[in-house]
Amino acid sequence: QTDGLLGPAVIRDLAQQLDLRPTKSLGQNFLHDANTIRRIVRTAAVRPDDVVLEVGPGLGSLTLGLLPAAARVTAVEIDPRLASLLPVTVGDRRPDLADRLTIVEGDALRVTDLPGPPPTALVANLPYNVAVPVLLHLLELLPSLDRALILVQAEVAERLAAGPGTSAYGVPSVKAAWYGEVRRAGTVGRRVFWPEPNVDSGLVGLVRRPPPPGDRRATFAVVDAAFGMRRKGLRAALARWAGSPAAAEARLRAAGIDPSARGEQLSVTDFARLAATDPVLP
Ligand code: SAM
Repeated sequence: QTDGLLGPAVIRDLAQQLDLRPTKSLGQNFLHDANTIRRIVRTAAVRPDDVVLEVGPGLGSLTLGLLPAAARVTAVEIDPRLASLLPVTVGDRRPDLADRLTIVEGDALRVTDLPGPPPTALVANLPYNVAVPVLLHLLELLPSLDRALILVQAEVAERLAAGPGTSAYGVPSVKAAWYGEVRRAGTVGRRVFWPEPNVDSGLVGLVRRPPPPGDRRATFAVVDAAFGMRRKGLRAALARWAGSPAAAEARLRAAGIDPSARGEQLSVTDFARLAATDPVLP
C-alpha cells in the first residue's frame, strides 16, 4: 500500500517478528484494514495543527494513518514489545513523518503527564476492557483535549452515547456527558481486526463542552450510588449516600427531583444539582 498503512499480511509479519501472541487481557486486536483506518482519521476530522493522543498504538495501524494528518502524535502503549517496535515500523514506512511521533511506554490509566505539547484530540482504538476508565481519566487529566474519537465494543459505544430515559443509559453515559457531547459515529465489523474479536465495534465521538455547574467528584459519587441499585427508586437507592431514606428524599426534593424517579431518568445536570444540595440530618 502506497500510503504505508498496514494490511493483513504486514500485521502478521510484524506479530511474527515479535513472536507476539496477542494478549486478550490487554485488548490486543489489531486493525488490518486500510479503509477502516482512513475512515477513523476522516471521522475524527484531524487537522494539520492537531496534537493527537493515541492510546494503545499496538503495531501502528492507526498511528500510520494519523501521522500524515496531524502536527504530532503522542502514543501511549503499555506493552513494551509493541512500544519498542513502533519506531521501527513507522521509520520503515514513513521516515518522512517519524519525527512527529512521541512514544510513551506506560499505562494510560496511570499517566499523569505527557511529554511535548498538550494534546488536542484523542483518537484511539481503545483496549476494550478499560475503554471507559481510560477515556474518563484522560478527559479529566488533559483539559487541552477538545474532542475524542474512539473505537470501542459496540455495546460500550451505545452506553457512552445513550441519553436519559433509554435502557443503555447508565454510569458511563452520565460521566462521559460531564465532559462533552457524545454521539455514535458508526459501526465497525469484527473482520477488520486480527485476531478477530467476538463482538462488533462502534465509533464514538465526544466534543468537549463546559461541565454543568457543580463539583465533579461529588456528582460522580451520587451517580455511582444512583445506578448501584438500578431497580430501585432514587429515594431508596440514595439512602446510604444521603444517610437515610428521609435524607435522600429531602435532598431530591431540594433539587426539584421526584423521589420516586429512577437514576436512568436524570441528566448529568440533574445529578450535579442533586450533589450540590446541602446535606441534611438523617
Ligand atoms: N491501535 C492498534 C490498532 O488499532 O491496531 C491497537 C489497538 S488494540 C485494540 C489496544 C492496544 O492498547 C494494544 O496495543 C494494547 O497493548 C494497548 N493497551 C492495553 N491496555 C493499555 C493501557 N492500560 N495503556 C496503554 N495501552 C494499553
